[in-house]
Amino acid sequence: MRNIIIAGNWKMNKTFDEAGNFLKEISDFVKGKVIDNIDIIICPPSLYLEMTTDFADNKIFIGSQNVSNYEYGAYTGEISAKMLKSIDIDYCIIGHSERRKYFNESNQLINEKLKILQKFGIKPIVCIGETLEERESGITEKVITSQLKGVLKNVTINQDVIIAYEPIWAIGTGKTATPSQAQEIHNLIRKWLLENYSMKIAEDTSILYGGSVNPKNIKELLMKPDIDGGLIGGASLDIVKFKEIIRIALEI
Ligand code: PEP
Repeated sequence: MRNIIIAGNWKMNKTFDEAGNFLKEISDFVKGKVIDNIDIIICPPSLYLEMTTDFADNKIFIGSQNVSNYEYGAYTGEISAKMLKSIDIDYCIIGHSERRKYFNESNQLINEKLKILQKFGIKPIVCIGETLEERESGITEKVITSQLKGVLKNVTINQDVIIAYEPIWAIGTGKTATPSQAQEIHNLIRKWLLENYSMKIAEDTSILYGGSVNPKNIKELLMKPDIDGGLIGGASLDIVKFKEIIRIALEI
């Protein structure tokens, strides 16, 4: 059985104090609750990673929003997988559409990042997704398959690789893919894993949906058989909304 994963991507938001207060509140919220079926992952700005690991336990995990494709060396401003591991970071988002768009990240670079994360035992949350133009031209399937091929090239997957389907047109726009639209692509991804890896990998791999997830749509999304959780931007910054999403996920 795959756990439900509720992952918050804070992007470049929150001050140090705001980050600490948020984590304390989430930590208090989950204390004493039986949440065996849910993993909560918070991905704060890298500057706060070390402080936020104080709140990590077997329910709350901390993830980085990025990692270098290099192991060490003269790469000013970069953060390596080894550094993340040295402060016990569990997860790392790679291939987010904002990094693809604003920092020109390619499938090849994301593939290198994935391999380096695996080398250091950090679980990659690999983002893929089509633009509105691609969806409207009817090439969503082709785009998703080609991204999967590129980011997973020569990668031995185990159940620690998480895939996040994030249609770009739904990120931060308030437009959500309908649960059926999302399910269709999640199912395509799972079938691709079956064809290119194995039944076990297809069944064990968590596939998250991302794109304007909020307390109003999370339940319907999570009810779909191939949607295992959410990668949440905007609503993960708001403590009331984020707690509500966790509360709803707990009832599933
Ligand atoms: C994201 O940043 O991955 C995301 C899905 O953002 P939002 O929830 O704001 O659409």
